[in-house]
Amino acid sequence: MKKHNFYAGPSILPEIVYEKTKEAIDDFAGTGVSLMSISHRSKQFEAVITESQEIFRELLNIPEGYQVIFVGGGASTQFFTVPFNLLEKKAAYLNTGTWANTALKEAKMFGEIVEVASSADKNYNYIPKGFSVPKDVDYLHITTNNTIFGTEIKEDLDFGVPLVADMSSDFCSRPVDVSKYALIYAGAQKNVGPAGVTVVIIKEEILGKVSRQIPTMVDYRTHIKKGSMHNTPPVLPIFSMLETMKWIKGLGGVEVIQKMNIEKAGILYDEIERNKVFKPTVANPEDRSLMNITFVMNDGFEEHEKAFLDMAAERNILGLKGHRSVGGFRASTYNALPIESVKVLIQAMQDFEKKF
Ligand SMILES: *Cc1c(COP(=O)(O)O)cnc(C)c1O
Repeated sequence: MKKHNFYAGPSILPEIVYEKTKEAIDDFAGTGVSLMSISHRSKQFEAVITESQEIFRELLNIPEGYQVIFVGGGASTQFFTVPFNLLEKKAAYLNTGTWANTALKEAKMFGEIVEVASSADKNYNYIPKGFSVPKDVDYLHITTNNTIFGTEIKEDLDFGVPLVADMSSDFCSRPVDVSKYALIYAGAQKNVGPAGVTVVIIKEEILGKVSRQIPTMVDYRTHIKKGSMHNTPPVLPIFSMLETMKWIKGLGGVEVIQKMNIEKAGILYDEIERNKVFKPTVANPEDRSLMNITFVMNDGFEEHEKAFLDMAAERNILGLKGHRSVGGFRASTYNALPIESVKVLIQAMQDFEKKF
């Protein structure tokens, strides 16, 4: 039975990625051995790493002077790796959600942190605007998509200071101007692959400016110099991520994916607005995430939340329960989620409304 997978992460990947990964687990690149059991220094796997770097460069238009590395530890490891490498004295953080706030707290171990704005006052249901950033900070850290709260910064900000972005949950969902960023990182498991690998895009000239000693594995320069092969990289997630990127390329690139994402999110937000039983949690359409669409029961319908989740489950809709800090529902409409699944959800919402 077909499942409609709205999980927030790890999340749905294109069908072809599962197929190619299964094949590679059986027989990797015609070697006769499994991808899990071949040296990461074999020429077949080295080709995977090289092609992975090239495909990100191509699809995201990564300019000269930037490096792409693949590391383990999840996006959470970047919360301390970023300040370890970049924070000498003072950094600015925009606090737009649980992940942003966790990154901020980790950075406090390394220097002075200025929280330039926060939306914590309203349970992170909006993106702060009109804030200023001190000119003397080493960098400004933002979280472009707030996975839990359903808000997203959809433009490339520019405050005249180096910009560091956690793009874990909207990476490769739309074009970005990489030249506006000093560093971008993303755990793969929301949009570009299975858990286990994190992509980091780094402007090389920002490195080497802090006075502290940096342990080898935490030092970005190690992974740049060794082409993500200083130690054993997460071979299987990297392989699946490459297949995901090939799928994006085959569709026509991130511009095409963006159009699909706008359409999927658009029809779902329209239904949430129209349907008397539900209401969105993010009031300002400008701030609404195209990746994680959060909504709750409308006033007067609160007691029916479980009934709707049960109905969704009957229709093979998975992963719709909202994060405990927001409640209600969260439909994650990442790149690989087909629009058909969104339509099934909308139908369920309409049928549910008819009961009243
Ligand atoms: C999921 C997520 C993280 C944490 O990622 P891990 O890979 O589990 O460490 C960090 N930031 C954002 C925006 C996320 O969505």
